[in-house]
Amino acid sequence: MEVTKRRPLRTANGTKEEPAQWGRAWEVDWFSLISVVGLLCFAPFIVYYFVMACDQYQCSVTQPVLELFQGETTLLSIWSRTPSFTWSAAKIYTAWVAFQVFLYMCVPDVLHKFLPGYVGGVQDGARTPAGLVNKYEINGLQCWVITHALWLANAHYFHWFSPTVIFDHWIPLMWCTNILGYAVSTFAFLKAYLFPTNGVDCKFTGNLFYDYMMGIEFNPRIGKWFDFKLFFNGRPGIVAWTLINLSYMAKQQELHGHVTNSMILVNVLQAIYVLDFFWNEAWYLKTIDICHDHFGWYLGWGDCVWLPFLYTLQGLYLVYHPVQLTAPHALAVLSLGLVGYYIFRSTNHQKDLFRRTEGSCSIWGQKPKYIECAYRSADGGLHHSKLMTSGFWGVARHFNYTGDLMGSLAYCAACGFGHLHPYFYIVYMTILLVHRCVRDEHRCSSKYGKDWKRYTDAVPYRLIPGLF
Ligand code: NDP
Repeated sequence: MEVTKRRPLRTANGTKEEPAQWGRAWEVDWFSLISVVGLLCFAPFIVYYFVMACDQYQCSVTQPVLELFQGETTLLSIWSRTPSFTWSAAKIYTAWVAFQVFLYMCVPDVLHKFLPGYVGGVQDGARTPAGLVNKYEINGLQCWVITHALWLANAHYFHWFSPTVIFDHWIPLMWCTNILGYAVSTFAFLKAYLFPTNGVDCKFTGNLFYDYMMGIEFNPRIGKWFDFKLFFNGRPGIVAWTLINLSYMAKQQELHGHVTNSMILVNVLQAIYVLDFFWNEAWYLKTIDICHDHFGWYLGWGDCVWLPFLYTLQGLYLVYHPVQLTAPHALAVLSLGLVGYYIFRSTNHQKDLFRRTEGSCSIWGQKPKYIECAYRSADGGLHHSKLMTSGFWGVARHFNYTGDLMGSLAYCAACGFGHLHPYFYIVYMTILLVHRCVRDEHRCSSKYGKDWKRYTDAVPYRLIPGLF
């Protein structure tokens, strides 16, 4: 059932224009609305709960609930024991974000001139529903390298700050990231009404909760180059991911006198994933986050808070529980992580190669098979595209997600089987990627119509052949 109606599109100069037909939803059903309000209310508490559980209950996620039910503690007492906001955390976080803005805006990429195969510098994004193609400065790998070089130089030579600094201010930092997450989401929401970057690509459902959460503007920018989606999606959250893990490793060393093989595995496997992200940043311009999602609380708050706090739970857990894995267990985790990464990367690479060469390439030693598709953009333009049915894209419609899930399971399994806490990540990733798969297919179906049906007939499974 609909609760809101589509309304005419207002552009920045007040004229009415015909909006694009595909992209994120125009109308909000009750289920979406309840999910959105539920997420807005509960997601901050989920982050708080998992971080607090380590701080106060040695990472037990059941103990706080049991104590509450048995009357041994109260919500007020848990809250009063939680470290509060501090100005030293605020200074650290402000310096961190300012440094990332500086690197993003003021240090154009030079790595692409030296690294064979790396695509950096000014690159085109995907065509928006309104038919625009934005330009982006791709310098994420360079920002990551500079940031980590400075971190390592500090740890080994300068000693300006302790390598455990992030862990030591973890909960006060959580309050700071929330302030930025809410501020940037609210700013993006108001900006869409007051001074949108590109009015034709805005989407108003008329439902405030949905618009705030899922975003109105497609590609909000300040000036020509400060792109909200590219900046918040990649930095400061993903650059911080590996630094946070390094800080956990330093804390484990400080507290227990050694670093466990599980901590090394988590650091290495997640660093591969992060480096892959930056190596392929130009390619990420063509993924759903950048080329289909609008910028709202889901991306703004999610990138500032959810990602750095919940994607790093394994390292946090290992500070409190320094698990030393047996050699077969460690080997099994490493193999699962590397095979998952191989599937994830190869599947993404196959699609990228196929799309770049318009099908004139070789996939698994053969010319790829595909289905020809047509779609229209808002300006009425007729465009053509191809959906590949060869390689991993013929095995399942989102085998890249399957590889991603295998890698995610490996991070969790590196923590042993003592607690549920580090397994939150695989549960979350499964929900995220299954939901994303359904969302993406809904979008593709409205974009390609009967051509999408031909594709789903040719490749009937989504993630696991024969099962789903
Ligand atoms: P995909 O890279 O799978 O892109 C989906 C798009 O690809 C579709 O919308 C369609 O776009 C096109 N497409 C679909 N099928 C085919 C086909 N057979 N042949 C050619 N093109 C096709 O999705 P995502 O952007 O979601 O994911 C990118 C990667 O990022 C994934 O590997 C995912 O695992 C990872 N990821 C990780 C997250 C994390 O938090 N760790 C979060 C989200 C993603 P078009 O309109 O161009 O046809």
